[in-house]
Amino acid sequence: MKNGTKFIHAGMEPDPSTGAIMTPIYQTSTFVQEAPGVNKGYEYARSQNPTRTALETAYAVIENGKYGLAFSSGVAATDAVITMLNPGDEVIAASDMYGGTYRLFDKVFKRFGIKFHYVDMQDAENIKPFLNAQTKLIWTETPTNPLLNIVDIAAVAAIAKAHGVLLCVDNTFASPYLQNPLDLGADIVMHSATKYLSGHSDVVQGCLVMNDKNLYDQLYFIQKSCGAVPGPQDCFLILRGIKTLHVRMQRHCENGEKIAHFLRNHPKVDKVYWCGFEDHPGYAVASKQMRGFGGMMSFTLKGDDIEEAKRVLSSTHVFSLAESLGGVESLLSHPATMTHAAIPREERMKNGLKDSLIRLSVGIEDVDDLIEDLNKAIG
Ligand SMILES: *Cc1c(COP(=O)(O)O)cnc(C)c1O
Repeated sequence: MKNGTKFIHAGMEPDPSTGAIMTPIYQTSTFVQEAPGVNKGYEYARSQNPTRTALETAYAVIENGKYGLAFSSGVAATDAVITMLNPGDEVIAASDMYGGTYRLFDKVFKRFGIKFHYVDMQDAENIKPFLNAQTKLIWTETPTNPLLNIVDIAAVAAIAKAHGVLLCVDNTFASPYLQNPLDLGADIVMHSATKYLSGHSDVVQGCLVMNDKNLYDQLYFIQKSCGAVPGPQDCFLILRGIKTLHVRMQRHCENGEKIAHFLRNHPKVDKVYWCGFEDHPGYAVASKQMRGFGGMMSFTLKGDDIEEAKRVLSSTHVFSLAESLGGVESLLSHPATMTHAAIPREERMKNGLKDSLIRLSVGIEDVDDLIEDLNKAIG
C-alpha cells in the first residue's frame, strides 16, 4: 500500500460498539470487569486505552514496523529507551542533535552512571573507535537539528549490527513520509509526534516503533511502569493529523525548496543549511534514504552578528518566532538562545552552530507570502 492510503487508514477500525468511523476519545481511567480477572483487554488506562491502541497501531503502520508505543512527549519516548540501560552502560550519540535530547542524556542520565559519547556521525566510521563491551546503544538523528547534517542510517545500522548494539533513530525531522529508518536497519524509530505527525501545533506527544517482540515487551513494561502515557484526546488529535501527513509534507517540501533557493541568493545571507542542495555534503545519502528534502532549514547572516539575527527574528509577520516545528504555519527560531541554549557556547561553536543561525520550519502557506516576509525581515 502506498503512503497516502496508508496514512489515512492506519490503525482505523470502525468502533466495535457503534460503527463510528473515527476512533472515539475513550475518556476513562478504568474499565469495568465482568468478573475478577475477566475483561475485554482493557483494565486501567495507564496500561491500555482504546484510543491509544488505535494510535499505537497507526504508528507501527506508518513506520513499517510491527509495534508502536505512544508517550506523553518526544522526550518521554527517548527517556523510555535510555531507561532500558543499566549503570555502566555506554551510549554513542550524534554530536548535532535536538538540544532536549542532549540535556536528558547529559543532565539526567549521566547522574545514573550511563556514559555518553558524542560523535559526528556524518561519517559512520567515526563511531567505531567508541565501541566497546559496555556500548549498548547508538542514538542518532537525521537530518540533524538544527544543522541539517545527514547520517547514513544503513551504514550506522551495519556497524550497530556487527557489534550487537541497538540503533535508535530520531526520525522527527524527516517524518515517515520522507524516511523509514526500520527499513534501513534501525532497531527503534523515535518521533516527537508534536511536530509533523500532529502537524497542527496543538499537542505534545512522542512515539517509538520497533519490529522485535522482546524489545517491544521491555519498552511496553517501561511505558506502563514509568507512566509517561498520553491522554486519549491527544491520541485522537495525532490520529487525525496523520491522515493528512502526505498532503502536508508534499507542500512542506515544495515550499522548502523555493525558500532554500531564495535564501541562498540573498546578499545578506551567508550560508543556507538544507539537505536538498546538490553541494550539501550529505546530498548523496539524503537522496538515497529520503523521498524528499522537507521544509526544515537554517541559515546564517554575513558577519555572524547575534544582534542582527535577533532583529531579523523579531521582524517577520507571517513566520512566528517560536520553538517547535512541523506545523502548518511557518515558524522561525534562534537555536543559540532557544532550543540549544542548554549546550555551552564553546560546545555549540565546535559543532558549527553559530550565533546568527536562524532555523526555519517552513509551513504550508502560499510560498510567495513567505518569501516576501523573509525578504522584508532580512532587509
Ligand atoms: C521536539 C523534538 C524532540 C522532543 O520532543 P517533545 O515532543 O518536545 O518532547 C526530540 N527530537 C527532535 C528532533 C525534536 O524536534
